[in-house]
Amino acid sequence: MPAPPSAAARGTSSLPGQRRPRRGARVALAVALAAAQLAAVPLHAQTLTPARPLPGLGDGAEMSTGTERELGDRIARELYRDPDFVDDPVLADYVQGIWQPLLAAARQRGELTPELDERFAWVLLIGRDRSINAFALPGGYLGVNTGLIAIVGSRDELASVLAHELTHVTQRHISRMLTQQSRQMPLMLAAMLLGGLAMSKSGRSGGDLGSAMMVGGQAMAMQKQLDFSRDMEREADRIGFGVMSQAGFAPQGAAVMFEKLQYASRLNDNGSYPYLRSHPLTSERITEMQARVQFREGAPPPTVALTPEHAMIAARARVLGRPGVDLLRQWVQAAQGSTAPASAATAGTLYAGAMAARELRDLPAARSLAQKLRTQVGTAGEPARLARLLAAEIEMGAGNAPAAVALLDVRAKTRGEMLMAGQAALLTRTHAAEAAPVLRDWVATHPRDATVWRLLGGLYDVEGDTLRAIRAEAEAQVAQLDYVAARDRFRAAQDYVRETTAKGGRVDHIEASIVDVRAREIERLAREQMEEKPM
Ligand SMILES: [Zn+2]
Repeated sequence: MPAPPSAAARGTSSLPGQRRPRRGARVALAVALAAAQLAAVPLHAQTLTPARPLPGLGDGAEMSTGTERELGDRIARELYRDPDFVDDPVLADYVQGIWQPLLAAARQRGELTPELDERFAWVLLIGRDRSINAFALPGGYLGVNTGLIAIVGSRDELASVLAHELTHVTQRHISRMLTQQSRQMPLMLAAMLLGGLAMSKSGRSGGDLGSAMMVGGQAMAMQKQLDFSRDMEREADRIGFGVMSQAGFAPQGAAVMFEKLQYASRLNDNGSYPYLRSHPLTSERITEMQARVQFREGAPPPTVALTPEHAMIAARARVLGRPGVDLLRQWVQAAQGSTAPASAATAGTLYAGAMAARELRDLPAARSLAQKLRTQVGTAGEPARLARLLAAEIEMGAGNAPAAVALLDVRAKTRGEMLMAGQAALLTRTHAAEAAPVLRDWVATHPRDATVWRLLGGLYDVEGDTLRAIRAEAEAQVAQLDYVAARDRFRAAQDYVRETTAKGGRVDHIEASIVDVRAREIERLAREQMEEKPM
């Protein structure tokens, strides 16, 4: 995931391990880390009931911002290793385009204080999962599933959910809950993690399904007593609504989202709506939301028009959520049979069809549907750009990287296109010299962007700049908070310098001294990370 500019601008100075939490908190952290690891190991390997009682916090203990951040970092480190958390170039841009204005509005309104802004990560991760869910984790990490992006009809609806989750963090609901229920804290954290992560995977097919459902059931049982309180939910609704409105999103988005959730809860469709389990729609919440939207004089009825851009993004989220071969085929057929005039909905149908054909490796179909889409959306604006990126993606998937390069702007400043152009340059090995400086400038202001660091490493490698390539790989590990792996890469970089100079070769002395400085910093963080391993 891209680091938000605010976090990125701070560089690594606010990384964890530099503030030592108090002793009582460390016990809780150890347990929470165990829970995070539990959530990350293959589900069938999990022991659902801990063999020994989980320790609690002492009475009156509460979680400082530093401790909460450290806990969040540990959970995030596990998530970064989980292949289901995807840094999709297109979806990430879209979600950031909602998330950053929400953060800015929360700052303006004073909900996001300078202290919290500085101490927390404010990173949004995308989970590749069909189930409808979004969740707040400790320390300013949030998760949103592709399933949720796929069912919302507008940016405004998605903004209402993200603003609600953001508010759980800014209002310190996590730490407030811990203070109220300090004795149950480890259990609560375990439930939160298992609930938010394992349960969100319950829709996955295959051998893990049975045990995944068991984990879900267990987590649900624990969650009964550990969810955010009704008051916290109402507060998150109220403040979140203010934040999203101030950020310029249509308030109707919140109303429409509520209607969707109400409809799903009437159908009792809890299986695909983990979000409803953690956010039960109480009658107070519904009444208050209705009042909020209706109090706005002259407000139109709660609808938000579907835009071509959103229809295409939702289509992408549907395909990324691993819908299975049958649905993919249906989407291809629907797109091929579509004779409807140009509209937002048909843009979505064509996008889904082209992407589904790509997933099915039916390249002629993918190409022809992408072309149909490009003809329909025209040449200007965001829909045209999205269609062009899709066409480039299809060419890359077809092994035709030169055609992808031709469709992309190697000097693009938007992150999604920058990533795709960088990948295409890596494949063709012809445009590395143009693409690398763009990525280098990006990581200078977004040092926590692991995806860009990794790609930059690949491009340096193509250019034969081995030292920079190894360092970029090390920085990618730092960005994903794996200091032990990062340390190993920095050591490899130092070895490379020694070996090269011993053989009479030349190395860039400035780069070599940067490596030395970083190696020392990361050595210390890696040591701390190893000490902190629980049990
Ligand atoms: Zn909530």
